[in-house]
This record gives sequence, C-alpha cells and structure tokens, in this order.
Amino acid sequence: MNHKSTIVWFRQDLRLHDNPALHEAMSKGKILPIYILDDDNADEWAMGAASRVWLHHILNDLNDNLGGALQVFKGNPQDVFEELVQNHRIEGIYWNRCYEPWRIKRDKAIKAQFEETTDLDIQSFNGSLLWEPWTIQNQSGDHYKVFTPFYKKGCLEADPPREPYAKPDGIQCLTSHQPHSKIDDLAFLPSNKDWHIDMIEGWTISEQGALDRLDDFLEEGLKGYKEGRNNPSQNNVSRLSPYLHWGLISPNTVWHTARSYGAIHHIEKDMEHFCSELGWREFSYTQLYYNPDLPLKNLQDKFDDFAWRENSDDLKRWQKGQTGCPMVDAGMRELWQTGYMHNRVRMIVGSFLGKNLMLHWRKGEEWFWDCLNDADLANNAASWQWIAGCGADAAPYFRIFNPVTQGQKFDAKGDYVRRFVPELKNMPDKYLFNPWDAPDHVLADAGVRLGDTYPDLMVDLKASRERALDAFSELKKNKNS
Ligand code: FAD
Repeated sequence: MNHKSTIVWFRQDLRLHDNPALHEAMSKGKILPIYILDDDNADEWAMGAASRVWLHHILNDLNDNLGGALQVFKGNPQDVFEELVQNHRIEGIYWNRCYEPWRIKRDKAIKAQFEETTDLDIQSFNGSLLWEPWTIQNQSGDHYKVFTPFYKKGCLEADPPREPYAKPDGIQCLTSHQPHSKIDDLAFLPSNKDWHIDMIEGWTISEQGALDRLDDFLEEGLKGYKEGRNNPSQNNVSRLSPYLHWGLISPNTVWHTARSYGAIHHIEKDMEHFCSELGWREFSYTQLYYNPDLPLKNLQDKFDDFAWRENSDDLKRWQKGQTGCPMVDAGMRELWQTGYMHNRVRMIVGSFLGKNLMLHWRKGEEWFWDCLNDADLANNAASWQWIAGCGADAAPYFRIFNPVTQGQKFDAKGDYVRRFVPELKNMPDKYLFNPWDAPDHVLADAGVRLGDTYPDLMVDLKASRERALDAFSELKKNKNS
C-alpha cells in the first residue's frame, strides 16, 4: 500500500472542480494541498492591493472546501518544498501551469532542481487556458500576431478545448484543520478597512460564487451580449474576469457551458461573440508568452521615441476620477469602489490617459494592477498596449476615443455616470457627458458649480487630441528620416 502523498500546489487554479493537477494527484492517493504567497520571485509584479483582498477570501473558501486541509506559506517555493519533502513522505509535486514570465522561470528551476536531485514525480498540467500558446501556430510555424486569424484559423480550427472534469468526491488530505488565522497571518488585508469591505460588496468570492455567476450571466446576460456588452449599465457582461483570473472557474467550464446554453436557447450569435472574448484572453496569454517584456516595453518599438508627458498631478486626477470628464471619472471611480471596470470604459479611460493626457500607458497599467480585482499580467499588459496603439493588432494610435460621444452612445440614459458621479445626477442627459457646454441656468438647476461641486475639465478635448496626433506624426517623421 502506498502511504506517500502528492503535493498539489494551488496557484491560479483555486478550485476543486475541473482542476487537472488535483484530478491526477487524487488518482495516486493522498494529497497535501498547499498555497504559497511568493512575493520574492514576483518582484515588481507582486500582487496589488485589490488582488490581495480577493486572495484572502479565496484562500479561506478553498480551505473550507478542503475540510481545513490547505497549508499556506509565504516565501520562496523552492524552500517551502524542501522543507515539506524533508518532513513528510512525499511522492510528487503537481501543479497547473502559469504563463507569467517570472513564474515560468521559477517553475522550470524548481522542476530541474528536484529532477536532478530526487526521484520525486514532478508534473504540470493545463488548468487555465483553452489552448496553450505553443499549440496554436500559423502556417509558417510561428505564433499569430493578429487576433482574427489567431482565433478563427488557429483556435477554432485546432482541437476543441477539453471537457471539464467534475468536482471530485472524497479527497483524502494529509493534514486537516488549518486554522483560518494562518491565512490571516499572511497579512493580505490593507489597513484601510472601509475600502476593502466596500470593494467586495456585491461579489461572492468563492468557487460556488463563480459557478453561480456563470449561471446568472447565461440566464440574464448572454441573450443580447453582442450589442449589450458595450453598455456599462446593462447586465450583458459576465463579470467573470476575476473568477477566471484566480481560477475559481476554468475557461473550459465557461466555454462548454456557454456553448451548450447558446445552442439550446438558439442564441448562437451572442454565444459565439462571448466565446470570441474568451479568445481575446487566449490571445493576450500568447502575446505575453512570446513577448515576456510585454508589461514593460512597447511591442512596436517606434513608440519608444514618443513624447510622453510626465505630470504627477494630472495622473492623480485621473486615478481619483477628478478629471472633470464625466465618463472618465465614472470609470475611475467604479474601479476604486468596486475593483472592476466595464470593458468599454476601460478603453475610454485608457485612451484619455494615453492620448488626451499623453501620459505613458505604463502609468495606467500600474494603477490598474493595484486596483483591479481581475488584475492579470497578460490581459492588463496586452490591453494597455492595445489601447495605447503600440501593441499587437492594436487600435491605431489615431483612434482617439471621444469620451463625450462614447458616453452619449453607450450610456444613453446616463445611468452609469449618474451612479458613479452622483454630483451630476440632476444634470439633463443633453449635458451629462459635457457639463462644460451647459448654459449657466442648466447648471444652476442641476445644483452643479463647475470647479466647486464638480471639477472643471482638466484638458480641452479637441486641443489635446490635436496635440496627441501631432506627437504621433512627429514619431512617423523621425522614423522615416
Ligand atoms: P465579458 O465581456 O463577460 O468577457 C468574458 C471574459 O472574456 C472575461 O471575463 C475575460 O476573461 C475575457 N475578456 C473579455 N474581454 C477581453 C479583452 N479585451 N482582453 C482579454 N480578455 C478579455 N481583463 C482582465 O481579465 N484583467 C485585466 O487586468 C485587464 N486589464 C485591462 C486593461 C485595459 C486598459 C483594457 C481596455 C482591458 C483590460 N482587460 C482586462 C480586458 C477586459 O476589459 C476585461 O477582461 C473585461 O472587462 C472583464 O469583464 P467581463 O468578465 O464582464 O467580460
């Protein structure tokens, strides 16, 4: 009889259902489930504040689901494993792969070290992607650099994503009854209590919460997704991004469940569009895998000479949602208050930062990294490069979002702006997105005093747009000369 245990190293797969590493480890016998908070190797990509709040709740949930058997550690995983292997009868270490460059480097080193010095069975699995980056190649054997062929020719013509594994029964763990205080000791929660309590309101941060979110979205949001996903106050987006990022649900579960639901309810168009958004997630991971510097460097190096401005006061106004531009302020306040921001608005605030304010996209990337509950190295870096115009298959630089017309089009009734910028709640729709154009009596009737109850617009939209386009054409001239 085999009395040895297999360590299951939970990382971005903090769930029991559809977890390939757990599934395989259980087939060998007892498991030792662990989580390691590794700030040492993460370096500048150590988790931001919102992520830590989520992680705190997730680890408590996972520990409960494992009957209190989750062991948590802080530090360098290599040291943790060496100690565990010394103190327990360990047969192997299993994990699901991560794709951040620092994690790939660390995991390879751990695998090499143990394989060289021990006979431990070290195995990794795919628990986070529908198609791992190296499985999707173009005809020349290279990775795709443009989304549409990547998704349509690469992904959709490849083997379909595997079906999810069911939630396992009867997990046998080596230890049990880890007190919750051990998780608290990792000191995740910031001292600002109000902020972290407000931020999680409305989210059920658990594996079951993720499955329920998917069901609710399919019932209430999938129909009409293709159009409705652009409207930040409509219920047509899934809000699954933090759950997918943390692995409380797998993309396979989301993919297959959405496809079945779409087919049964004859809403294939919406379902296909939703699946293609999951495809963007895959594309971001592919970009990061093949461009490890993606979070730090312009993918198109001509942007290295761009005349970004440095202005910490402007950056602060943007971060705090005090730009005087209602659609931008609504987005930045949504982010601060809830840890989430709707995709349409992420694009609007990103364009405003990089183009109207001409501040470097990395400043936005860093702020999002700290504040988003779905802060994800691949998605965040790829999306910021996309909106700045310097990424793969990016929006062309000259596509500058007009926050006024975007608001009028996608928040036509003003619900979103009124919710997050309550100072403007009595403004009529006509001037809600551009209060600076409103006649004095309209402002007075709405109780708005610009520069007092609500900030003056910090940059003229038209002039700042011209300034950005001039800077961009300078760049082209320099490259041509
Ligand atoms: P849905 O519309 O319901 O989409 C379903 C899933 O598809 C999402 O949960 C997500 O996993 C994936 N997805 C959707 N849109 C995109 C996209 N454009 N790129 C990649 N994956 C996508 N997403 C993150 O998960 N983490 C980030 O750190 C992040 N940073 C971003 C920064 C900027 C500047 C921009 C413009 C976008 C960023 N995104 C990021 C992408 C996108 O905004 C979010 O994934 C989406 O808003 C999440 O909401 P949802 O789950 O309701 O999306």
